[in-house]
Amino acid sequence: MSFPTDSPREACGIVGAFLAGEDVARTTFFGLHALQHRGQESAGIATSDGRQIRVRTAMGLITQSFDEIDLSTLTGYLGIGHTRYSTTGSSNIENAQPIMSHGPDGEIALAHNGNIVNALTLRAELEAWGLHFKSSSDSEVIAHLMTNAPGATFAERIAYTMGRLQGAYSLTMMTKDAVYGVRDPLGVRPLCIGKLNGGWVIASETCALDQIGADYVRDVHPGEAVVIDADGLRTVHRRNIDQRRAPCIFEHIYMARADSVIDGHLVYNSRKAMGAELAREHPVEADLVMGVPDSGTPAAVGYAEESGIPFGEGLIKNRYVGRTFILPDQRLRDMGVRMKYNPLLENIRGKRMVVVDDSIVRGTTQAQVVAMLRRGGAKELHLRISAPPIQHPCYLGVDFPTRGELAASNRTVDEIRDFVDADSLGYLSIDGVLNAVGTTEDRNCMACFTGNQPIPVQLEMDKLALEL
Ligand code: SF4
Repeated sequence: MSFPTDSPREACGIVGAFLAGEDVARTTFFGLHALQHRGQESAGIATSDGRQIRVRTAMGLITQSFDEIDLSTLTGYLGIGHTRYSTTGSSNIENAQPIMSHGPDGEIALAHNGNIVNALTLRAELEAWGLHFKSSSDSEVIAHLMTNAPGATFAERIAYTMGRLQGAYSLTMMTKDAVYGVRDPLGVRPLCIGKLNGGWVIASETCALDQIGADYVRDVHPGEAVVIDADGLRTVHRRNIDQRRAPCIFEHIYMARADSVIDGHLVYNSRKAMGAELAREHPVEADLVMGVPDSGTPAAVGYAEESGIPFGEGLIKNRYVGRTFILPDQRLRDMGVRMKYNPLLENIRGKRMVVVDDSIVRGTTQAQVVAMLRRGGAKELHLRISAPPIQHPCYLGVDFPTRGELAASNRTVDEIRDFVDADSLGYLSIDGVLNAVGTTEDRNCMACFTGNQPIPVQLEMDKLALEL
């Protein structure tokens, strides 16, 4: 089980590597370790020595799921890996990735970050072709389409599949002798390429390249499919029908790690700039600016610098509260946020505080944080959010609750302020986010804030729609 969380759940982290003459499983493991923030439910690695694909998946964190013995059985010089939070399909081992699929020309392993909005239709079509499904994930739909699509070569099957998929998909895939990286034409989820010891690595975020010592080369372009094999890296397909782009703005606000570079922008600096914009849009007289750790901290630093109010720590986060297989009893569960944060009483007592957080989903965490800081003696609590109100669910790979559960879906800002019991509440505007990232609305997906979906979606699509 996981402790209660009111944060948006991330989608997934993916890695691919082709390192001739090297043991790729260890590199894949450490790449996934850097992407653990993108998914903590299950992890998996597939490798090949050029003759046979071996795969191992397990529930839990990458460090809990794999040991030296596991890695030593995953032999080979090419591999892919996946760390999962379920956005389609429930959390169980059948839905863990990489997913294997067999077709007339052999087998592949596939790892997916994103969400396919026409998965139900495609699955029905594939079942009519006689294919059987083991899981309830949309990723298995992609894998079966990749192996069974019409086409004389795998590159042709990729092109066919990309023509049929609607939604968000960053993929790493492998045959027994090649690794592929694929990104949907809108470029919703990130995917980057690095060079390591004469070989190539693909990963969701640049922080994974940094961790394994690879040098960032470029992103996989939206609509591009690349292959890495014994001849090196090259593009095998481009699908850019109308040149529209919709990378997820929420990667900059919350999802990506602060030390990653997304679309040319260091995430930490974008978040700090959001804090500075927030200070200009929602100034207040106060004694101390604090962030809700850890994701609110860069914006809090930016707010403090812009406002001239000192930055300080008000809460310490227990870094080890995350997934656990030990069930807390009811008394511990009721502690909720106290398991996660502990206030620094001397720092907050008698102070007028600006409390900066990255987003409000249901609002329950912020209400608990405000209550905790009030109990600790804070005199005033001014909540500042470095994103606009989230009013719509995400259909492209981030697991927000349903619309009815979102704090901002049917409440005004004043009503949310009253719900969380803050003295004042200010959200960053859409323009403020765009200024901070240095982008424009027409070059991003901002649908959870605006409702403007970059592609038609089946409204209120059920996360478990493909459940068997
Ligand atoms: Fe990202 Fe929001 Fe668009 Fe989902 S709806 S892809 S979270 S910007």
